[in-house]
Amino acid sequence: MDLAFSAEDLKFRDEVRDWIAKNFDAETKTMQAQSKNGYLDKETMVRWQKKLYERGWVAPDWPVEHGGPGFTPTQRYIFNMEMSAAGTPTLSPMGLKMVAPVIMKFGTDEQKAQHLPAILKSDVWWCQGYSEPGSGSDLASLQMKAERDGDHYVFNGSKIWTTHAQWADWIFCLVRTSTEKNRQDGISFVLARMDTPGITVQALPTLDGPMKHQQEVNQVFFDNVRVPVSNRIGEEGKGWTYAKYLLEFERGNAYAPGLKNALAKARRLAQYEGVADDPDLARKFAELEIQVAALDATEMRIFSSLSSGKSVGAASSMLKCAGSEAQQAISELALEAIGLYAQPFVEDTWAEIKGRSNEPRPGPEYAAPIAPSYFNYRKTSIYAGSNEVQRNIMAKMVLGL
Ligand SMILES: Cc1cc2nc3c(=O)[nH]c(=O)nc-3n(C[C@H](O)[C@H](O)[C@H](O)COP(=O)(O)OP(=O)(O)OC[C@H]3O[C@@H](n4cnc5c(N)ncnc54)[C@H](O)[C@@H]3O)c2cc1C
Repeated sequence: MDLAFSAEDLKFRDEVRDWIAKNFDAETKTMQAQSKNGYLDKETMVRWQKKLYERGWVAPDWPVEHGGPGFTPTQRYIFNMEMSAAGTPTLSPMGLKMVAPVIMKFGTDEQKAQHLPAILKSDVWWCQGYSEPGSGSDLASLQMKAERDGDHYVFNGSKIWTTHAQWADWIFCLVRTSTEKNRQDGISFVLARMDTPGITVQALPTLDGPMKHQQEVNQVFFDNVRVPVSNRIGEEGKGWTYAKYLLEFERGNAYAPGLKNALAKARRLAQYEGVADDPDLARKFAELEIQVAALDATEMRIFSSLSSGKSVGAASSMLKCAGSEAQQAISELALEAIGLYAQPFVEDTWAEIKGRSNEPRPGPEYAAPIAPSYFNYRKTSIYAGSNEVQRNIMAKMVLGL
C-alpha cells in the first residue's frame, strides 16, 4: 500500500481546501463549533448540502451514473479528511448514505427516478424507521404491521429513536407484512411520506437536556396509515436482506479524520485552561492519539481497497466499535480539561449566536457545548447497532466463532 499522495492528489486537496475556505461561512462555523450533537438546524444543514450539491460533491460515495463525483478512493479519503479537519457540518446520512444505496441496488427505475435526484439535491429529508419499543438489537422481532388492502398497505404500530423525524418528508420503514416461522421472512422495506394521515411525531428528551432547538430523537406513531404498495422496495418479505445491506453503509464510515479534529480541539481546550502539561491528562491524550493513529491506518487500508458504491462489509463493525469508543473517550477528555466550567447547565448552546439570550454564559464561549456533548456522545456506542452487538457480529462473521 502506497500512502504517499501524488502531485495530482495534492492539487485536488488544495482545490477542496480552497472550496471550504470560500463556502464554510463564519455563522455556520460558529454554530458548528457550538453544536452539542454535531448537527445544525435543518435550514443550515440543507443550505450547506445544497452548496456541496452545486459543486458536485454532496455524495462522494455515489456512483457517477447517479450523480456521484467519480472520486478515486484516494480522492474520497482526501475529501473526507479535509471536510473533517475543517470541522464542516455533518451531512444528514439518512437519505444520502442509507436509503439511497438501497434504492440504487434494489429499487425500480421509477423509484430511482423519483427519489435519487431529490436526495442528491437535498430537496427531501429522510428518517429511518427501524427500531421499535422492544425491538432494537433484536430487530427481527419488530411488530409494526403492514396489512394489505388492495393497492395499499395499512401501517399500525410505532417506531422509536427516529433521528430528526420532526424534519423528515419521508421515512423508510421495516414493517411486518406476514407472520412467518422464520421472523426475518415476514419483514418488508417500505417508504412512506411523513405527511400521510395517521402519522404523528413525538419528541423524546435526551440526557443532554431539553433539545428545543437541537432536538434529535423522536417516537413516530402510525395509526391506520395507508401507504401505496408501489412504495415497497424489492420483494415483499425480503426487507431483512435490504435492511442488512443498508446497515453496512450506516456503519461503514471513516472515523479517524473527525477524531483527529476532535482530539486537536480537546488539546486546545487543555492549553487554554493551562492543564495540557498535567501528567495524567497528557498520558490520556497520548494514549488516544495512538489509538486514533492506529484507526487511521486501518481505515486507509480498508477504504483504499474499495471502489465506488461498495460497502465495507463486516469490517464496518470493527470500525464502529473502535471509532465510537474513541469519540466517547475524547468527549470525556474534553470534559476533564474544561473542569469546573462543565458544571453550569447550558440548555441552549446556540442561544447567544441566535440572539435568544441576553444573559452572558458562565465561563468561556468554548466551554458551553462540552458537557452537553459529553452526555450526547453516550449515544455512539448504542446507535447504529450497539457495540456489544457489533462484537457478536465480529465473533461470527470475522472470526467464524
Ligand atoms: C441517538 C440515537 C439515535 C438513533 N436513531 C435511530 C434512528 O434514526 N432510527 C432507528 O430505527 N433507530 C435509531 N436508534 C436506535 C438504535 O438503533 C437502538 O437504540 C439500538 O439498536 C439498541 O437497541 P435498544 O435501544 O432497543 O437496546 P436493547 O436492544 O434493548 O439493548 C439494551 C442493552 O443490551 C445489550 N444487548 C442486547 N442484545 C445483546 C446481545 N445479543 N448480546 C450482548 N448484548 C446485548 C445492548 O448492547 C444494550 O447495552 C437510535 C438510537 C440512539 C441512541
